[in-house]
Amino acid sequence: MGDIYFSFRGRVYINAEALNMVESIGNYVKHRRIPVVIPETYVTYMVPAISGESIAHGYQYILAQKALENGLSVCNLCKHGIFLKSTNEEVFKDSFNQETIPDKPEELEKTIVKGCVVEDVGGFLFTTEKKEGKKKKEEKVKNLKRTSNFYVGYMIPVAEALVNTVIEPQLHTRYALGTKHVKERGQMIYYVEIASAPYVFSFDLDTRYIGRSTYSVETAGKPIVSEEEIKKRKIVALEAFREFITEMMFGAKKTRFLPVIDWESFVAAVSDKPWTVPSPFTKKYIENAEKKLKKINKNTKLYIYRRDGEKSFEEVLFEAIEDAVKRITEK
Ligand SMILES: [Zn+2]
Repeated sequence: MGDIYFSFRGRVYINAEALNMVESIGNYVKHRRIPVVIPETYVTYMVPAISGESIAHGYQYILAQKALENGLSVCNLCKHGIFLKSTNEEVFKDSFNQETIPDKPEELEKTIVKGCVVEDVGGFLFTTEKKEGKKKKEEKVKNLKRTSNFYVGYMIPVAEALVNTVIEPQLHTRYALGTKHVKERGQMIYYVEIASAPYVFSFDLDTRYIGRSTYSVETAGKPIVSEEEIKKRKIVALEAFREFITEMMFGAKKTRFLPVIDWESFVAAVSDKPWTVPSPFTKKYIENAEKKLKKINKNTKLYIYRRDGEKSFEEVLFEAIEDAVKRITEK
């Protein structure tokens, strides 16, 4: 079948970042923070974090571009980085230039998967809206969910660093008093919270259902596009990750808060079936991955990067992706 499971976990230092902001209160822009418990004392700390949604957005943006470059279909909205992903009838119609919704959920899934690689790989949730007061026309498909084939989570500081993380507001000014353009009060001073931490990073890709039905038990696993295109879609999903992580294409506010990024380590596991790298929250995660491999092996190969090792980040990452692509094309 040429299916692979790709699992990536790492530790990355990110300094002076404002990658995930949650709200602004007046002239104060807040960084996302979440509660995390430390293993030794079970004390919970509020620490800076970067949400999985923010990472998924970045990945899907690259995925859309890569798919288009490779002549694969992407819907009208995903093409522009608007990931509403077949939320309801109106979105569906605009995304696929279609006036009607297919009758059966299986058919609707087929149409969406065929027409958009982002929704094929990243999943979607279609629901019909209730129109109060009007006599509702018969809605054939009410709800349809396709689970994402890739998985990401919150980036949180590593266990040893939790007690030391700090979020600090920085003063910025957007006005220039004394010039003819700002007479009384032009633009204001503002504060942006920035954070610095060694973060954990996680990404998994399961290619089993890419280009295939998932909705009903009868049709689950049946191809929606040709086997050749399924292969191509899997490879594009991997190549998108390679570019995404090499260029760190996620997060906001990068035009003036471009963070200082340095990878400490990572483990990429390429397997035939689900095999996830242990959490990098704990320092021993590389050792834990090697121990896990001795007990559980699904034709798994580990690619390990260490900051003080001989190979560069890109060298190790590219080797892992090459292995995964080879397994997809040769099987
Ligand atoms: Zn789409």
